[in-house]
Order: sequence, then structure tokens, then C-alpha cells
Amino acid sequence: MLILECPCCGVKAEETELSPGGEAHLKRFGPGSSDEEFEAYMFARKNPKGVHFERWRHAYGCGKWFLAARCTATLEVFGTYPAQTSEPPADIVAKIKAKRPDWKGYK
Ligand SMILES: [Zn+2]
Repeated sequence: MLILECPCCGVKAEETELSPGGEAHLKRFGPGSSDEEFEAYMFARKNPKGVHFERWRHAYGCGKWFLAARCTATLEVFGTYPAQTSEPPADIVAKIKAKRPDWKGYK
């Protein structure tokens, strides 16, 4: 079972207390962007077997959104951090690189 610690309230929540929100760190494209950029923003999502950055909401807790870095194959959680963070924190990236030397980064 997936257990994520909510960085907003500190509760270690089971997956049933959380709502998934899809891929984190999307670059948004709106008016003025090309059709290809807007299409990619709207529809193209990563689906890796391995390290993935995701949005989650503590739905049956504090109700706040946060971000998580985890492995989709093993459910290993590398860390959680506030949703207002524009890119993964350095300590989480260092933790991932230490455990997965062949990881190519989040972009
Ligand atoms: Zn919470």
C-alpha cells in the first residue's frame, strides 16, 4: 500500500485517504502558444516505470494539495513537498540520484 506523508499537516496517510491529481510540474501553455504546445500541455503525460513526480490531495485529511516523488514500480516514496514548489527540492533529487544512479532527471 502506498503511504504518503502530507507536508501540510504531517499525517502519514494511506492511499485511500488521498486523491491523485496527475503529473506534477507541468509547464502550462495558454493563449499565444502554438497548437502543438497546447496539445502537449492538455493531453501528453508521462507514464514512467520508475521515478515519477505526482500531485496528490489529502482528501480525507486537511484537504490540501501536495507533490510527491515516488517510484511507480516499487511504490518507494522519495519525499513529499508543498504544491507551490515549482521544481523538485534539491534534497529529494539527491535522494533519488543516490538510490537510482541511472535516473535521468524529472524533465
Ligand atoms: Zn494533510
